[in-house]
Amino acid sequence: MKVTEHLLQAKKPIISLEILPPAKGKSIENIFSLLDPFREFHPAFINVTYHRAEQVFKRRGDGNFERVEIRKRPGTVGICAAIMNRYGIDAVPHLICGGFSREETENALIDLHYLGVKNVLALRGDAAGNEKFFVPHPHGHHYANELVDQILSLNEGHYLEEEIMDGFKTDFCVGVAGYPEKHFESPNLDTDLFYTKQKIDRGASYITTQMFFDNRHYYAYVQACRDFGIQAPVIPGLKPITGKKQLTIIPSIFNVDIPLELSRELLAAKSEAACEQIGTEWLLAQCKDLISSGVPVLHFYTLGKPHVVINVLKELF
Ligand code: FAD
Repeated sequence: MKVTEHLLQAKKPIISLEILPPAKGKSIENIFSLLDPFREFHPAFINVTYHRAEQVFKRRGDGNFERVEIRKRPGTVGICAAIMNRYGIDAVPHLICGGFSREETENALIDLHYLGVKNVLALRGDAAGNEKFFVPHPHGHHYANELVDQILSLNEGHYLEEEIMDGFKTDFCVGVAGYPEKHFESPNLDTDLFYTKQKIDRGASYITTQMFFDNRHYYAYVQACRDFGIQAPVIPGLKPITGKKQLTIIPSIFNVDIPLELSRELLAAKSEAACEQIGTEWLLAQCKDLISSGVPVLHFYTLGKPHVVINVLKELF
């Protein structure tokens, strides 16, 4: 089922999860043991992130270094198929522009279509580790809205090879990212919303937000979207924050604010267990407030400490 169908059919708030493929060399069992405990909460869909290849230098036998490309977390498409097969839950693979030609993207979409995947989250991706700014693949896309175009074009049966007449029309439901505290490269929220609106106008059906720790950011963002003429559903992205180190790591990676009250409480905590308790209570309060405001879905970034999300879900449902 498509994410939009899940949202329409939801009679009470549903949950969705986001997971990372395991590091290369690990088994799919790592994913199953992460997801099994969530079964009782019936996640409606599970997003699987995509990780672009990185360039690293490796020493050759002659002592010189050569630059090689490695993908540390491959397997997004395979994991989506495994999730759908094992749990019967819809998977939402992330597709990124970074590092991909249009041809490779088209082939990935064809694979997903053959596997019965109905959903895709279309993203630009970040700059590669060795680059300061995002550099598109020479035959790829600069921005997520171009990727949305490509996916919607395939939904119309238009393939890159123009000779393909009467091409099969895929039927992907496309989601895109949104940033309640604005995307870090954007000069201001209005400019960011201008481009977010382009993604929706070009055919994306919903927005999943970057994590936020103060619901006021989410409510203000949804209102700003509506004022801008963006009517698509805005799925709130939630992450537990359970340790003092995260107070600096999360803002530096995700460019989001941690509320003073939460950071004060965490800094004053005397143990890891106390930090975890504070983070759990904070997330629970966020969820309760969002549910009472009528959101149809809570989307959890499940990395790191899934049991914290489980504990919150036990309190909620
Ligand atoms: P875009 O929508 O392309 O926007 C990027 C920036 O360019 C913004 O500042 C925007 O305002 C601006 N912009 C957009 N279009 C134009 C235009 N035509 N001209 C000028 N400026 C423009 N990253 C991964 O690598 N893998 C993942 O799996 C992944 N999953 C994510 C899931 C979610 C829910 C979110 C919120 C983020 C995720 N990311 C992921 C991170 C994401 O790739 C980065 O935040 C990236 O920097 C921006 O991606 P985007 O799709 O929002 O880009």
